[in-house]
Amino acid sequence: QYNNPAATKTLSYVAENVHDFALFADKNFIIEYDTLQLASGKIVDAFAYHHPDGNKHWEKGTEYVESAIRHYSNWIGEYPYPVAAAVEVPKNDMSGGMEYPMITLITSPDADEFMLDGVITHEVGHNWFYGILGSNERQHAWMDEGLNTYYQFRYEAEKYKGNSVFGPSIPNEVKQRPVNEFQAILYNAAQTQIPMEAPIDVPAADFKNKEEYGLITYLKTAVWFYQLEQQFGKDKVDKGMQAYYNQWKFKHPYPEDLKAALEKSIGQDLTAFFEGLKKKGNL
Ligand SMILES: [Zn+2]
Repeated sequence: QYNNPAATKTLSYVAENVHDFALFADKNFIIEYDTLQLASGKIVDAFAYHHPDGNKHWEKGTEYVESAIRHYSNWIGEYPYPVAAAVEVPKNDMSGGMEYPMITLITSPDADEFMLDGVITHEVGHNWFYGILGSNERQHAWMDEGLNTYYQFRYEAEKYKGNSVFGPSIPNEVKQRPVNEFQAILYNAAQTQIPMEAPIDVPAADFKNKEEYGLITYLKTAVWFYQLEQQFGKDKVDKGMQAYYNQWKFKHPYPEDLKAALEKSIGQDLTAFFEGLKKKGNL
């Protein structure tokens, strides 16, 4: 039948400034739809596709997509695409999610509201770190996964006083602290209680296993970048990241490009700080 034009139909999709695409289809999708307006006035269509027998927290799917886009747009640079979507799919071996430009699949069937918001935000956040800033994921995985994790932690801290690494182990006493103190306590705990042996800037394939890849690329990078924030202040680092975004959006930046953009905004030589990417053991 597929050779018979009368039995098929052709759908064409056009996207600008993307380096990848994905498509998901299911007759049973429940479709949540909303719009959000960004600071410039730009309107973005937000979609969440989920299943009748899936995780019930997906009823808030578009809320999480929108909230992620607002936070990342404010921190780094405005979301440039017309659409953002998240899709619920069944659990698999690498459960969590997988990012594509403008659309992400989420494989976290057991997530509570906090975890679902966190994983959707992480995957939507990849529109910035992987999509718009198309760094080399194999050679320098920290540039997308690690920087994205730093912002995911910031999101979880600001919105929930939560953290997806520490989860329910965070004492109430810590949750009652102001958000900056909350972040400092958690990063200090990560730095002092979780051994992180391998250096950050290692090609993805050279890590011992996927656990080490995850720990170093995601968590150790977030700790490293948080140290920059602590040293120079959130405002300067935010301005540096906004400059990096504006200079390198829809291009393929390398570590030296990030370093140069940050140095220009912060007004300091960051050679010693970037050498931390090669450091074994905790930072
Ligand atoms: Zn990721």
